[in-house]
Amino acid sequence: MSHAKELFLDHAATTPVHPDAVGLMLPFFGNHFGIPSSPSGLGQRSKRAIDEARSRVAALINASPAEVVFTSGGTEANNLAVLGAAFAGRKKGNHIVTTAVEHASVLNACRHLENRGFRISILPVDDQGRVDPEQVRQALCDDTILISVMHASNETGTLQPVEEIGAMAHEQGIVFHCDAVQSAGKVLLDVRSLHIDLLSISSHKLYGPKGAGALFVADRDAIEPVIFGSGQEQGIRPGTLNVPCVAGFGLACSIAQRDLENNGVLMASLRESLEQQVVNRITGVRINGAGAPRLPHISSLSFRGVPADDLAVHLDAANIVVSSRYSPGIEGHEMSPALAALGLEREYASGTVRLSLGWENKEKQIRRTLENLSEAIESLRGFAAASRGKDVTMFTFPDRESAAAARESLRGSGLAFSLAARPRDLAHGTCSSIALACLSRDHTKVGALLGENGIAITGMHKTRDEDRPMKKKERGFWDKVERIKKGLPS
Ligand code: PLP
Repeated sequence: MSHAKELFLDHAATTPVHPDAVGLMLPFFGNHFGIPSSPSGLGQRSKRAIDEARSRVAALINASPAEVVFTSGGTEANNLAVLGAAFAGRKKGNHIVTTAVEHASVLNACRHLENRGFRISILPVDDQGRVDPEQVRQALCDDTILISVMHASNETGTLQPVEEIGAMAHEQGIVFHCDAVQSAGKVLLDVRSLHIDLLSISSHKLYGPKGAGALFVADRDAIEPVIFGSGQEQGIRPGTLNVPCVAGFGLACSIAQRDLENNGVLMASLRESLEQQVVNRITGVRINGAGAPRLPHISSLSFRGVPADDLAVHLDAANIVVSSRYSPGIEGHEMSPALAALGLEREYASGTVRLSLGWENKEKQIRRTLENLSEAIESLRGFAAASRGKDVTMFTFPDRESAAAARESLRGSGLAFSLAARPRDLAHGTCSSIALACLSRDHTKVGALLGENGIAITGMHKTRDEDRPMKKKERGFWDKVERIKKGLPS
């Protein structure tokens, strides 16, 4: 498996495709290009590949093949489940129960339904990210038609009490949907013992290709289609299937099932080692969800007083890929709803990164991560202390290499500086995502040093320390800018 020199610790976002799955897929991009609905030999070869994949996906979740509906991924499976169950259940009622930590593909589908007359109850979670089944029970009404609760959180890996919730749903004749995109292939998943009616999974989270996923549908009458066409996938999800990706997805499911126990033990022990070392070496850190049952591979860490984006770019500069969970400018400068639901204080929440391991990670990579993590946090906290109450200037660069070279050339200069995420207002600019921050009063010296070392820069941007009170003249200037933006007389 090749991630080149990159150390990839973002497996909850996506995974590399397993080489055996690549091998299985390749002929379907070439000579085996038949359409599965065609009775020709070519078509039937593709159909056999789809049938085999369907059996493999079904085996992973203890379903029967006829209950597996292929989709383009987890987002589509969740939309189909929520919208499809709502439309099918509309004669019975219009109330849906879900939680505040669901993925956007569930929450936004619910919001869409709310705008069309459905009633949605969004339940809170405790400080470990778990929903209380008793609260689910209390939320149910005579007109509840759907409960949608994820199996495991994509933020913290926290497992929800889905067995209890599923049993409760069935006692009351309510359809139960479970988003298992993060947990499938990581922990045992049995749709029967968990009392699940609809279950979403995604190929690219379990070493399959992007562009494939599945919805388990126990009862065809529990959902209505949301797109219309010919009769593929029992008419629940019409459209010609992505044969290579579905075949690769199927094999990835079989491999995940075969290696589930070994990989689970391996990843849990690596995660334990990572978290132990973080706690031993770095102060002011919280491990989110550590007090609840969790997936074995996700570690959500909140570092006090460290901007998560800046931390992620420090690690990126060292070729370590993690996920910042607090993305100003991308998610509207807000913490994700799932983090907000945990009730973290802002100074911790804004320093939250997610490290998610894969079976190909090794202990020595954990040590490398720790070295870089502690160095980055020391540097960011040091710069935050030096720049408190002062204005900061950011230099941006055409590429990561120039940013790294800039850092090297400033080492030992005695100037206060730090790598940082590029300024928010340049989110879509052409420069590298890595910038370099220095005190504004030093920017001439920094610029001269970079010039002497032949380092190309794309720009220089002054940013204000948000904690520093504005001077009257400065406030007047920004008020004017706001008025112009709103089209008011300046
Ligand atoms: N549900 C959860 C819990 C996820 O983490 C994700 C992706 O991150 C999705 C759904 C969407 O899956 P996909 O990327 O296959 O659309």
